Amino acid sequence: MHPATDPALIEADGQILSYGALRDTVAEAAAALRVLGVGPGERVMLVAENSAAVAIIALATARLRAWFVPVNARLTGPELAALQAHAAPRVTLYTTTSPAARAHAGESGAQIGGRLGALGLAASLAPSRPEPVADSPAEQVAALVYTSGTTGQPKGVMLSHNALIWNAKIAAEMRGLGPGDQLLLAIPATHIMALATGLLAGLQAGASVRLMARFSVEGLLEGLAQGASVLSVVPQVYRQLLAQLAGSKPVAPRLRQLGCGGAPLDPALKARVEAVFGLPLHNGYGMTEAGPGIASTTQGPRRADGSVGHPFAGLEVRLDRADATGVGELLVRGPGVMRGYYRAPDLTAEAMTDDGFLRTGDLVRQEEDGALHLVGRAKELIIRSGFNVYPVEVEAVLLACPGVLQAAVTGRPVGDNEEVLAFVTLAPGTGAASVSDWLTARLAAYKRPQHLVVVEAMPMTAAGKIRKAELVAALAG
Ligand code: ATP
Ligand code: MG
Repeated sequence: MHPATDPALIEADGQILSYGALRDTVAEAAAALRVLGVGPGERVMLVAENSAAVAIIALATARLRAWFVPVNARLTGPELAALQAHAAPRVTLYTTTSPAARAHAGESGAQIGGRLGALGLAASLAPSRPEPVADSPAEQVAALVYTSGTTGQPKGVMLSHNALIWNAKIAAEMRGLGPGDQLLLAIPATHIMALATGLLAGLQAGASVRLMARFSVEGLLEGLAQGASVLSVVPQVYRQLLAQLAGSKPVAPRLRQLGCGGAPLDPALKARVEAVFGLPLHNGYGMTEAGPGIASTTQGPRRADGSVGHPFAGLEVRLDRADATGVGELLVRGPGVMRGYYRAPDLTAEAMTDDGFLRTGDLVRQEEDGALHLVGRAKELIIRSGFNVYPVEVEAVLLACPGVLQAAVTGRPVGDNEEVLAFVTLAPGTGAASVSDWLTARLAAYKRPQHLVVVEAMPMTAAGKIRKAELVAALAG
């Protein structure tokens, strides 16, 4: 137990919730939810941007042995409705401090008032049926977390108490978190990365967690200036941060650790971030289905490449169908792995082996010393005239080209072959021709894009990943 007066959560408006106040508030929220009929196996959906409510409701539902279902308030109405139909929550809560969540609350006719109202939450109720409860409390589902929807529809991942606790612990360990730390939560806590390895890891370690309601570069810089000691975000955020800083150094008096994860870390970006901050940038690899921790560079020697480092202790890893170059699909088994996809037995059967390994869908190469290199998603592998083309490799060459801001590479079938498509956003004054010349000088012919498409902006998921399918669809349309 952490001292009751220690700060647990620091809200965007500066309000501080101590560990003692957090415990009391969680008890109140649990009592209020119980009155609404929430019991073991019921789903409680929270539509939110980052705020104390994410922690409060996560812990309150855990107490009731109900399922916490976090959803990003920035989803559109139809996207939210699809998740609601799938999760069939007994209660949906909306944080009233978030304009986006308030708008959703308005559309659903949610009520504000009572004890939940006092906690800044509007609630709507629906008929529901509790799911069976696990015999062992540790194996009970604690959270239903949706995947980012980068490659298709988001999938509902069931994570047990044990999985979340294990993940929070290893994340706290890998960040060396303690009561003196202040973790800056700049990416959505409704996504597994910020939820388990940020918010829950921070609370587990007795650190304080500073919540940014929604991401902005200015807000992030302010958080750093105000004493954040640990920052972990997606690569896209670092890209924006560097653009804004334009060579100047950020004011970050207490910053001691930088982390990155969720999407490929381009080595050139890593080098620039490290130069600006004077700190190593650690790469972490995970996925919602693993709750999310799989590997991180925090456990091995410092590295300059884009490796994701060593798998966490306690995880078993295996490469499936490795090719002649040693690249295969990564399979993992361990305490953090999901109990399955909710209401999707076929998808679950595809994703899990009979002996309990999770198929990550990611292609990796493992070094002699155990460090993992992600070469891309199996689904994204392009086979061009019989040769394997890994989009991440082509993207890295594109991103190293002066004037290229963002890059997304994907394949498209043509006849019985596949062609390579590259989408880029460019700095003003950069021409596509110079990018083509850059590629010609650096990539074997079969890896070079048949189409280099300059776009104004990349379509992004709420988790900060590029939606490649949307780019391709726009090209075809
Ligand atoms: P969906 O499964 O709905 O298509 P998603 O896979 O993007 O979306 P997440 O669970 O948020 O949903 O992301 C996990 C995936 O993100 C991993 O399988 C991997 O492909 C990618 N990823 C995560 N961390 C890294 C990293 N450090 N480097 C490269 N890729 C990463
Ligand atoms: Mg996925």
